[in-house]
Amino acid sequence: MTRKSWIISMFVVLLITLGGCTFTPSPLWLVDGFDFPVGDPNGQGWAITGYAFLDWSNVSNSLHPGEDWNIPGAGNGDQGELVYAVANGEVVFSGWNTALGNVVLIKHALSPYDFVWSQYAHLDQRNVSVGEIVSRRQIIGTVGRGPENRFAAHLHFELRKADLPANAWPRTNGQAWNSTQVKDYWLNPSSFIKQNRPE
Ligand SMILES: [Zn+2]
Repeated sequence: MTRKSWIISMFVVLLITLGGCTFTPSPLWLVDGFDFPVGDPNGQGWAITGYAFLDWSNVSNSLHPGEDWNIPGAGNGDQGELVYAVANGEVVFSGWNTALGNVVLIKHALSPYDFVWSQYAHLDQRNVSVGEIVSRRQIIGTVGRGPENRFAAHLHFELRKADLPANAWPRTNGQAWNSTQVKDYWLNPSSFIKQNRPE
């Protein structure tokens, strides 16, 4: 090997090494599609019989930023039914708040730079903790009735396109946000899931 070709090959090795250092690895929890949070992966057997996305909620005196899922006609019979992660992700909140009861919030990477968040509220049990990496369809909790059994059993489910605290609600100083404001932070859950089913 000539001195010149040796220098060139060392330079190539150096470039590959530097290139390797700047390569951004995909997050382990990168999504491979979205399923529904209750029932089978297609959401069958369940329906949004409570408030739908952007319905006016008399309970909270605001627009409803998510969907209320039930087994039709089950009443409180769906208490304890399994709740699944809608996609691969990282648990960023698992705890209690006075408005929503037991809540799990999961961050999902659509790419290394684009994220959405799914939130599951009024849970009876929480089966995951903060920092845990979960896979699509992993059981993350069970359907409950909210704080002090305030509600008929159902899953309150939100999909967010912003990094909001677990207790975020589309209201400021008691004043409800309008639908345009809500849609700046929240996604229509069922529409988004239908558009992003696994291959
Ligand atoms: Zn709700």
